[in-house]
Amino acid sequence: MRSVVLHGPRDVRVEDTPDPEIVEPTDAIIKVTATCVCGSDLWPYRGLEPVNQPSRMGHEYVGVVDQIGSAVNDLQIGDLVVGSFVASDNTCEICQAGFQSRCIHQVMMGSVGTQAEYARIPLADGTLVKVPGTPTEQQLKSLLAASDVLGTGWFAAVAAEAGPGKTVAVVGDGAVGLLGILAAKHLGAERIIAFSRHADRQALATKFGATDIVEERGEGGIKRVLELTNGYGAHSTIEAVGTQEAMDQAIGSTRAGGHVGFVGVSHGVELNGFGLFWATVSLLGGPAPVRRFLPELIELIMTDQIDPGQVFDLTLPIEQAAEGYKAMDERRATKVMLTL
Ligand SMILES: [Zn+2]
Repeated sequence: MRSVVLHGPRDVRVEDTPDPEIVEPTDAIIKVTATCVCGSDLWPYRGLEPVNQPSRMGHEYVGVVDQIGSAVNDLQIGDLVVGSFVASDNTCEICQAGFQSRCIHQVMMGSVGTQAEYARIPLADGTLVKVPGTPTEQQLKSLLAASDVLGTGWFAAVAAEAGPGKTVAVVGDGAVGLLGILAAKHLGAERIIAFSRHADRQALATKFGATDIVEERGEGGIKRVLELTNGYGAHSTIEAVGTQEAMDQAIGSTRAGGHVGFVGVSHGVELNGFGLFWATVSLLGGPAPVRRFLPELIELIMTDQIDPGQVFDLTLPIEQAAEGYKAMDERRATKVMLTL
């Protein structure tokens, strides 16, 4: 089968690799319908995470069940399914508490690689959620978004306790930040302040529900949020970048007693204990338990109540994956879908 393989910084190739096989009886093999390039794929692409050997890429996917192991009970061959970027049993105590991304049996899908024609999905019964009906082309994009960026933005909004009467600030105007805006809006937030200095992303942020746009960053950005909120700061802040500046900006934009949902993959972030002590905010973040939200998100998508697929602004055949990475790296594209 054809697969996307990263050989080193900025060296993306599409190559023939062996077809996956059932390894554990709880595995399923899916024929991938659509996959995509994630902002987090850019860390190794840019050489900011080491690439010690040619590595299969990708952890987002919509697909059709092609084979099932002998212990898979809830899926049938031919089912259209969505799963998250972490395979989980959905039965352990961590999963039952809603934190499937930290399942005690978790398997990171990035280690499997879903930018390929087929993918092996571990713990298939727990991981995969069946899609009812046949999605339109736009709904398919949205289902693919649900696999990671929508689910991650949703978790960030829930972790930040976005809701009716709340002012939500969103740090990061990538796909996750933009969909955090969509989630906050759906959860009933009254005011949503988006940090962005890119006209096209500002437009999408507004479409998804942002009421205010702040172009300043760092201390200047915090100052603007305080000005917009009578000096209080936001009740709820989403951090969807993962850098020191973004985390400081998120905490600084949040009022005392508020909540920060941080989902940007942390790179070099260090928190100052004294500053954190006086910030008086709640922090909840980490790899998003997308599986918790998938059934609800699939329902909202298939009934056209939300349209997160709008974050995909470039679609390419998988053979042109290298161009997809380049376009995201150069910020010419927000999110790239790869078709098969
Ligand atoms: Zn579990």
